[in-house]
Amino acid sequence: MMIRSLLDNGERKHPAVDTLNGTMTYQELADQVDKLAAYLTEIGLDRGDRIAMALPNGLEVIASFLAASTVGTAAPLNPSYTRDEFKFYLEDTSARALILPKDTSEEARAAATDGKILIIDASIDGDGRVRFNSSGRLNGAAAIAATSNDDIALILHTSGTTSRPKRVPLSHANVLTSARNVANTYQLTGQDISLCVMPLFHVHGLVASTLATFATGGTVVVPPKFNPLSFWSTVREQRASWYSAVPTIHQVLLSRAKGTRPAGAEQLRFIRSCSAALAPQVMSDLESTFGAPVLEAYGMTEAAHQMASNPLPPLERKPGSVGPGTAVEIAILDEKGNLLPPGTVGEVSIKGANVFSGYEGNAEANAESFSNGWFRTGDQGTLDDKGYLTLVGRLKELINRGGEKISPREIDEALLRHPSVAEACCFGIPDRVYGEGVAAAVVLKEEATEKELIAHCRASLSDFKCPTRIYILESIPRTATGKIQRRNVAAAIAGANK
Ligand code: AMP
Repeated sequence: MMIRSLLDNGERKHPAVDTLNGTMTYQELADQVDKLAAYLTEIGLDRGDRIAMALPNGLEVIASFLAASTVGTAAPLNPSYTRDEFKFYLEDTSARALILPKDTSEEARAAATDGKILIIDASIDGDGRVRFNSSGRLNGAAAIAATSNDDIALILHTSGTTSRPKRVPLSHANVLTSARNVANTYQLTGQDISLCVMPLFHVHGLVASTLATFATGGTVVVPPKFNPLSFWSTVREQRASWYSAVPTIHQVLLSRAKGTRPAGAEQLRFIRSCSAALAPQVMSDLESTFGAPVLEAYGMTEAAHQMASNPLPPLERKPGSVGPGTAVEIAILDEKGNLLPPGTVGEVSIKGANVFSGYEGNAEANAESFSNGWFRTGDQGTLDDKGYLTLVGRLKELINRGGEKISPREIDEALLRHPSVAEACCFGIPDRVYGEGVAAAVVLKEEATEKELIAHCRASLSDFKCPTRIYILESIPRTATGKIQRRNVAAAIAGANK
């Protein structure tokens, strides 16, 4: 079965998506996706071809994703990447085509000028349907090849401990399993209306908010982006029954509500939080203000999103825990790969039909990440005797800024490209809004100011990755054995600035 077949689940005349461009029923969306898939085939794209897309949330990205994964492999990219980042991702995925909003996306267009990548403009016609238009074509037209469950539907990247992001191929089976796991966890039905405020180039928005909805014949409402000012009027007017978001979004909504339940909140059956840690106090404030159960879940790109979640009432939801595995086996392993008993902290490891089968072209990462059939998540946690998982830390080196993952090595390297920088060490700092923020320490060989260095980062890195503070030091603190440990550097700077 392929992802496109999810659209056959809904009642033909029931709304599948609701966007700025109006509502589209299951029948209309399915017809639309089939037409777009036929177009992609006509211009020469085929099974095995990577079809990149950099589109804001809306009908275009949903239809493009479904069509691209029907014909070949969809490679969604963050539309706010810089030219350098687009260049890297397009090359790294070996993209053959790139779907962009018509007349915009200068950075992406500038990154794909070598003529090897076919640019496809996506626009909405007068009838509210997505149109593709490409100025060229690849080889001759092929027919849409039959898919196997194991074909790669989707390719995404995760930030690695090295500066190069790792490629994560997800099969149709991985994605469908995860979408169904999400749907089962929250007992979604055709009557549910999901409000999608997470970006659709990431598994959280794509699999949890959207595909789990299609798996159960419900409706997904997709505004262009999260807007705290119109959030509750959208919930109210579109009759949303749930939404999923990162803790930063929940917190923004909470602080705007000032303790008063916003009109529309009474429609919510539950609120889901995932992709970064939700503080128990925030969870309890959310529940008392919005009057709906708040269910914290644990997701990861390599697992096609969901691994664990707190369940709906009357089952117990535990503040500070991400809940039990959701049809995903969870074990805590020690360094050697031995299973640890409940109550012991070790590496959270998973098994399940949603879990990918390995990074693409990265034997070293695969050797480190799999032991005895378990995928090691790089997160540290502990299971209680009821199987509820609590995350306590991270073995992997990344900064989780409000759910957006940043590899500190990538920031070190960007800083080191500045002619005045001799040494650089990026690290996470506590941040009230984002949970974690990005900072760096540098040693200079020539004069430069913090402002100049931040501007230098902005030229090659997306805004969310750029350090907001850069400390200029005489030397970077080292351990007794002469190593630089990001955590120690962060602690030394925090100590010095008390
Ligand atoms: P991504 O691949 O972007 O979905 O990021 C996956 C990582 O996000 C996990 O390995 C965790 O480090 C982190 N993460 C996801 N959900 C949670 C959560 N509920 N609490 C803390 N960290 C989380």
